[in-house]
Amino acid sequence: MTTLLLSHPACLDHDTGDLHPECADRLTAITRILEHEDFFYLSRDEAPRATEEQLRLGHSAAHVARVLGAIPAEGWHEFDSDTVASPGSGEAALRSVGAVIAAIDEVLGGRSRNAFCAVRPPGHHAGRETVEGFCLFSNAAIGALYARKVHGLERVAVVDFDVHHGNGTQDVLWNEPGTFYASTHQQDAYPYTGTMAETGPEGGCVVVNVPLPAGTGSDDFRWAYSDLILPKLRDFRPELVIVSAGFDGHAADPMAHLRLQVADFDWVTRQLLDVAAECCQRRLVSVLEGGYDTRALAACVASHVRALMDA
Ligand SMILES: [Zn+2]
Repeated sequence: MTTLLLSHPACLDHDTGDLHPECADRLTAITRILEHEDFFYLSRDEAPRATEEQLRLGHSAAHVARVLGAIPAEGWHEFDSDTVASPGSGEAALRSVGAVIAAIDEVLGGRSRNAFCAVRPPGHHAGRETVEGFCLFSNAAIGALYARKVHGLERVAVVDFDVHHGNGTQDVLWNEPGTFYASTHQQDAYPYTGTMAETGPEGGCVVVNVPLPAGTGSDDFRWAYSDLILPKLRDFRPELVIVSAGFDGHAADPMAHLRLQVADFDWVTRQLLDVAAECCQRRLVSVLEGGYDTRALAACVASHVRALMDA
């Protein structure tokens, strides 16, 4: 069994306008680096389109209709000053959710060991009824609910190492039993949520937030996982681990102020793979979130995917 790479050319057609940090060049840089011979043994496939029924696992029917109905025939629609849609955005968003769904089908079906979804728009700021932070639909959270409700898993974990708190994922999963959401993120940065006091409701999602002060580097990042997140993840005994893989915690990233290095993303990936090996026959699905310095992003994704292939 190999690692599966899912993407789709439509993800390049989500046009956010000039000078927007969440741009198609990000995905082009990732695609280029994954063409290196180191990645020859990746299994590669095009992401299918998610159905509206699948979107409704994480969003209300009215919200899904509102978002898809706002996609412009030409020009741009601004959901807010950060989050814009172009004519290609609807297809890109459906392929992004569809990638996660297909990855889960392949990994749970035993046809791939694990998977990485190289897609955009990202998803972890999209809430049950909200579009924000460059995100249209809640890719990872929909995946968790798909694994729970369609595949019948009892416990699904989402672990989010993007430098921003995944307020959308947390919102979608909040009242959902059998789910776990853990996040490391920069404290007092967008979206200004994700305190340690947010632990999830009785009978709902188990939430573990670890905000890290600006300037945090490798040692404290690794401590947050070793001492706070991984023990709780092991206690939860996930049957599938979904990773919200954002690489904007890298020191070179222009959007935030953590000081992580490529080796930290390799390390955290291998830690999560170890938990997946202990708890759930190594079943892990990773989906791209942020990462805005294209050189650092490509290097981080390469190390992340290499770790997945070594599992
Ligand atoms: Zn981010």
